[in-house]
Amino acid sequence: MKITMLGTGAALPDPDRAQSSILVTLENGKNYLFDCGEGSTRQMVKANINPADVPWVFLSHLHYDHVCGLPFFVLSSWVFNREGKLKVFGPKGTQDFVDHSFENGAFRVDIQARAAYPARQKNIEAVRPEVFEVEPGLMYEDEDVKIYIDVVDHIPTEITDCFGIRMEAEGKVVAFSGDTAPCESMIRLAQDADLLIHECTFPESFLKHRAESGVGTFAHTSPLQLGEIARKANVKSLVATHFGHYDSTSPVIKRAAGNHLPVDLMGPERLDEVARDIRKSYKGDLRLATDLMRIDL
Ligand SMILES: [Zn+2]
Repeated sequence: MKITMLGTGAALPDPDRAQSSILVTLENGKNYLFDCGEGSTRQMVKANINPADVPWVFLSHLHYDHVCGLPFFVLSSWVFNREGKLKVFGPKGTQDFVDHSFENGAFRVDIQARAAYPARQKNIEAVRPEVFEVEPGLMYEDEDVKIYIDVVDHIPTEITDCFGIRMEAEGKVVAFSGDTAPCESMIRLAQDADLLIHECTFPESFLKHRAESGVGTFAHTSPLQLGEIARKANVKSLVATHFGHYDSTSPVIKRAAGNHLPVDLMGPERLDEVARDIRKSYKGDLRLATDLMRIDL
């Protein structure tokens, strides 16, 4: 299988990173999309994938950096002649999000106008995604894959769940963390995986600043913690992703984020700190994600 890191950024608009999104393409050509942050669809096209050929998307949680690309993905794949309904899997709240996005919501007028054309009417089902609000356990299986999910530690579960996943396909295991603080459920999902794709939102130096400045550290994983997780889970290969813009050189981000990030510490050199800290516990294959990075398994 081929894994394409479509988006590797976090919540801020970043000129170098689209928001969270990962595409898994099996040898038989079947595509499975995990998360759909801003920029995902454009990145798919850059990676030579027609969004209309992606019939299936899983949303790890409903923070905007993981879902706000969904309307564009749905609408543009309608215009690209998607056949049938997109299947959307996600936590509770996903149905509501989809219901308020299309014919009965934000894009009602657009869809009404475009659907006046017979060509668009023909595949109108493309803007009526079928939603599955899912629970921990075996979330999905078909003849090629089995996908297990469990709740990870990110959003208060009384609001909604955030899920980590374990995908088994072609005799390989890929795990993806969604967003999470270190937790046992993610270590279980990733146990002995061929590849773990795990968030690494802030390096230690940023967490120190955030703790001191009182903005909090939120429920994320640091590089030191990620090294521990990868070691405990005994994964063969690790990709760190969901970078909280600490490697950015953007003057706009530096000006705009000054109240909650130590912008003087921002720069590509932070990635050296990240790799060094992960390596303190984890000795296996390690990559720091960049947009459109391709991993063949
Ligand atoms: Zn996120």
